[in-house]
Amino acid sequence: MINQTAIERDFIEKIIELKKEKGYTILAHNYQIGELQDIADITGDSLQLARLATEIENDKILFLGVDFMAETLKILNPSKKIIVPTKGSTCPMANSLTPEIIKEFKEKYPEAPVVLYVNSTAACKVYADYTCTSANAVDVVSKIDSDIVLFGPDKNLGSYVAEKTGKKVIPIPGDTGYCYVHNRFSAEDVKKVREEHPDAKIIIHPESPKEARDLCDYIGSTGQMMKFPETDDAKEFIIGTEVGMIHKLENTFKDKKFYPLKELAICNNMKKNNLKNVYLSLLNEEHEIELPEEIMEKAKIPILNMFKIME
Ligand code: SF4
Repeated sequence: MINQTAIERDFIEKIIELKKEKGYTILAHNYQIGELQDIADITGDSLQLARLATEIENDKILFLGVDFMAETLKILNPSKKIIVPTKGSTCPMANSLTPEIIKEFKEKYPEAPVVLYVNSTAACKVYADYTCTSANAVDVVSKIDSDIVLFGPDKNLGSYVAEKTGKKVIPIPGDTGYCYVHNRFSAEDVKKVREEHPDAKIIIHPESPKEARDLCDYIGSTGQMMKFPETDDAKEFIIGTEVGMIHKLENTFKDKKFYPLKELAICNNMKKNNLKNVYLSLLNEEHEIELPEEIMEKAKIPILNMFKIME
C-alpha cells in the first residue's frame, strides 16, 4: 500500500468522481506509477489492454501508457474515444524504426516477411506482415512459413527469437533498435543480485541483452512474469524489467518478496503520467488519440494476422 499525502488523496477522490460522472474506463500499463495502477479499472500489458478494450461496453477510455500502445488501442477500437493525459509519452525504441527504414530492408530482402513487435508506431505497422508481442514472438516467427524474417524494432527480442526458432532473424533498424530500460541489464548486474539474494529466482524480460538473459532462471514477458511466482516455490524473486512491475507483483503475491534487478530500470516515458495530469485529462477530456482511417485499416492487418497465426 502506498503512503499518500493529503493532496494526492484529494486528486484520487476527484479522479474517481470525474471518471464516474464522465463515464470513462481507466486502463493502465504495468509500468505506470503505483498510484495510477491503483486507480485503474484494468491493468495489464499493452496487448492485453487493447484486446480487453474491445470487450468493454463503455466507449470512453482513459489510457495510461505510451503513445504506440494508445495507437494500438485505437486501431483495435476505432469507434471508441481514447484519451491520454499527455501527448509527450513516446517510446524511443518504437521511434527508432521508420517506414523508410522498413522499405529499404524490404528492397534488400524481398523474400523475408516483416514481423514487428507491437512496440512500434502505427505508421510502421502499415508495412508489416505480422505483429508480435514479447510473449508470443517466438511462436509467431516459428509458425511463419519462411526461414528468414525481418524483425524490429527490438534487436534483443530479435536475438532471442533467432536463438529459440533457429531462423535467420534480420534486425531492423539494427543496432539502434532497443529499449533503453532493458538494454541496461548486464551479466554483472545478474551476478551481483545472485550473490545478494542466493535463494531468489531471477526473472528477466526478453528485451534484455543475451549476456544477462543467459544467467537468469526464467525469461518472460510482463504477462508471463505475473504467472511465474504462482507456479514456483521460491519466496523471493528478482525482476528484470521496468520497476513499475514490482508494484503489481507485490499486490498479487503478498506472501512473496520482489526486488528489482536494477533500481534504475525506470522508463521516463511511462512515468510522464501522474495524478495531476490524469485529473486534468478527465476534466477537459483531452488529449484524444486520432489516426487517419487509412493508417488504422492497414495497421490492423498485421495485428489480425498475429491473432490468426496464434489460433
Ligand atoms: S519500457 Fe522500453 S519499450 Fe517500454 S515504453 Fe519504455 S522505452 Fe519503450
